[in-house]
Amino acid sequence: MRQVIVAGNWKMNASKETVNTLIMGILSGMGDVDSNVIVCAPSPYMSQVEALITHSQLHLGAQDLNVNASGAFTGEVSADMIKDFGAQYVIVGHSERRSLYGESDDVVAHKVQVALENDLTPLFCIGETLEERESGNMEAVVSRQIQAVIDRVGIDAFKNIIIAYEPVWAIGTGVTATPQQAQDAHAFIRSMLAQNNESVAQATPILYGGSMNPGNAAELIGCEDIDGGLIGGASLKAEDFLQICKAG
Ligand code: PEP
Repeated sequence: MRQVIVAGNWKMNASKETVNTLIMGILSGMGDVDSNVIVCAPSPYMSQVEALITHSQLHLGAQDLNVNASGAFTGEVSADMIKDFGAQYVIVGHSERRSLYGESDDVVAHKVQVALENDLTPLFCIGETLEERESGNMEAVVSRQIQAVIDRVGIDAFKNIIIAYEPVWAIGTGVTATPQQAQDAHAFIRSMLAQNNESVAQATPILYGGSMNPGNAAELIGCEDIDGGLIGGASLKAEDFLQICKAG
């Protein structure tokens, strides 16, 4: 039985005040949450979040990492820096990183490798654009994205990877994949992992991301191969995020 995982991706949305209000709001409702809950904060606020969530069941994640350990990489954040703030997770290969910052499958796979080498659990994002889906290429795209990671770290490494299937057309658009569309994609992803190793495939969490909200979370997370959610917009409101955490 895979544990439900709910991760919030705040993206570039935060201030000291909103971080305080949001985390305190989430913590106040965590009592009856069984899911593993992660908040992925912008780097400048990780220290603040670390202090607020001490001794709680909330976990901290970063939103990206640089593959280098240190040096002349202005604006970048290393795995060691992320761990220095008590984070255990890092989002890798979010579609915004792929499309806005040109991260290729190889770059994303390298980041997954560096995260794993540094004992960070990557939330490895994959997903097709609307054009790719409409031209019947969803399976080819997610296969290519996953294969790049298998080629670099091997299938056994997926024991320590969380996959987030995020159809690009559903991210931040208010258009959610139907439970059937999402389940079909997740089942395909699991079958691809199973071709390499059945037990790894059964153990790997596959989260859905793309306009998940309190109204659709239970139905999506109720699908056989959907093990939770990666939440953007709805993770910025404590009440909405908590409702999703309780949907699992
Ligand atoms: C995301 O950015 O990972 C995401 C799923 O965003 P939203 O929930 O806003 O669609």
